[in-house]
Amino acid sequence: MSEYDYIIVGAGSAGCVLANRLSENGKHSVLLLEAGGSDLNFWIWMPIGYGKTFYRKSVNWMYETEPNPELNDRVSYWPRGKVMGGSSSINAMVYIRGQQEDFEDWKEMGNPGWGWDDVLPYFKKSETNDRGADAYRGGDGPVHVSTMDRDLHPLCQDFIAAGQEVQYPHNPDFNGASQEGVGTYQNTAKGGMRMSTARAYIRPAQRRPNLRVEKHAMATEITLDGKRATGVTYRQRGQVKTAKARREVILSAGAINSPQLLQLSGIGPADLLRDKGIAVRHAAEGVGKHLQDHLAVDFLYRSKVPTLNDQLYPWYGKLWHGMRYVLTRRGPLSLGVNQAGGFVRSRPGLRSPNMQLFFSPVSYTKAPPGQRALMNPDPFSGFLLSAQPTRPTSRGHLEIRSSDPFEPVEIHPNYLSTDYDVQEILEASKLVRHLAEAPSLANVIESEIAPGSHVQSDEDLIADCRARSGTVFHPVSTCRMGPDPAQDVVDARLKVHGIEGLRVADASIFPTLTSGNTNAPAIMVGEKAAGLILQHDG
Ligand SMILES: Cc1cc2nc3c(=O)[nH]c(=O)nc-3n(C[C@H](O)[C@H](O)[C@H](O)COP(=O)(O)OP(=O)(O)OC[C@H]3O[C@@H](n4cnc5c(N)ncnc54)[C@H](O)[C@@H]3O)c2cc1C
Repeated sequence: MSEYDYIIVGAGSAGCVLANRLSENGKHSVLLLEAGGSDLNFWIWMPIGYGKTFYRKSVNWMYETEPNPELNDRVSYWPRGKVMGGSSSINAMVYIRGQQEDFEDWKEMGNPGWGWDDVLPYFKKSETNDRGADAYRGGDGPVHVSTMDRDLHPLCQDFIAAGQEVQYPHNPDFNGASQEGVGTYQNTAKGGMRMSTARAYIRPAQRRPNLRVEKHAMATEITLDGKRATGVTYRQRGQVKTAKARREVILSAGAINSPQLLQLSGIGPADLLRDKGIAVRHAAEGVGKHLQDHLAVDFLYRSKVPTLNDQLYPWYGKLWHGMRYVLTRRGPLSLGVNQAGGFVRSRPGLRSPNMQLFFSPVSYTKAPPGQRALMNPDPFSGFLLSAQPTRPTSRGHLEIRSSDPFEPVEIHPNYLSTDYDVQEILEASKLVRHLAEAPSLANVIESEIAPGSHVQSDEDLIADCRARSGTVFHPVSTCRMGPDPAQDVVDARLKVHGIEGLRVADASIFPTLTSGNTNAPAIMVGEKAAGLILQHDG
């Protein structure tokens, strides 16, 4: 049996950070276990390859939720990265930290050390912003964050102008002093290529003698000695292996798999474990509970002016932009799909923006099932405008189906299960319509394809949200951080309540969903976790 000081389960957004930081000073041996394989894959590195990896089993867990009662019993498709870099290798690359208020809320929920001033240094530490460092942004961290301005589609300027016409300020940096306003997004990319955490943190560290990375290594159980974690059992190429942790086991397997692994190891809701024939090692009701996710509603427009559809639909357009990308790493294939957007308030009296907007100068109304047809857009000029309420109050849960670690968990997102969330998504729809009526966008819109101008009343708009809204792929909080062992899974030092030598550090620990995309805060959690672990290291 092999022995290490630290064993990290999952080489995703947070896990790669931990593997790098814990092995950095050379004093500790670190084992990083990843269920997926290498990220040396053209579709991962090329930003628009997102459309390919979205449904690719070799790099993606491809989860499906249970039917959502409030979404007309629709099943949601939940991609998650199963590859070095985890979901940072297959995501849409938008770099957003969240609002300062989000982290102040985390602190107020009983988590000292997680307020905005506490977490800002870790955001900065992780980042190299291509506009340079300032009071908010990092200048020499591993994750490169790039402005897309050189290759932005010109329609993004119409979107920003429309925002200003309805009194939203222009914000040149959503990750600066304030998140509020409309503008263009920055991406986790460098030189026109994706900047996953595998690229940012593991590549520079992979030759360290004290870091061992095991790929295609699926952790199946945390081994325990009473109430102390002693190591991890994993399956690799058909063989069962066990590694011992002298100091700690750290779960960074993501918001679906970290709670799954705890439950499989006998740490979870006692009734559930007994029902699945698993010995209860430590009853912890919160494991798998408090699940939160962003739900967005898309509006599709036919455009009077050319959009990316006109560039990417014809075969010669694909060829030209493909060649341009290969030769120069420039052009539309070097960017994410969400080029512009913003954070705005849908009504007065709110503490901070409650809606996130996305503007994509491309549309794909007839994507065949199982395809994200980014390279095969509509044969006419079209674009997409969408909005997501940033702080949903609906809470879901997940649970193992059986004691088989290879069986996917049951996911119950419970979207729109509160009246508040129904009102918020209705306001999101109205806000998109309001923006589309502003002169700069109205001038370029030929017609609304979806939901269509016949959908007008509140009832019809809500019915449309139930029929068409979808996940933005931000599940969090299933191993929630907080002070109450009865409901929270980890404490503010990310230690699992009631178990020694075991932490969780990934998006599952978020006390609440951040206002925006979740990759940057998951990376911050990795940085902060490493800081906490090494704090008393001498
Ligand atoms: C399609 C998509 C688009 C997205 N777009 C954006 C975006 O534009 N911007 C943004 O900020 N966020 C985006 N996100 C969300 C963001 O990427 C995630 O919130 C973030 O990556 C989560 O990080 P994590 O460390 O919690 O988990 P992950 O990055 O998912 O890492 C978990 C890792 O653990 C591994 N693992 C799981 N179980 C085991 C096991 N038993 N044994 C060994 N290894 C295991 C997994 O294979 C994976 O590599 C998107 C996500 C998806 C899926």
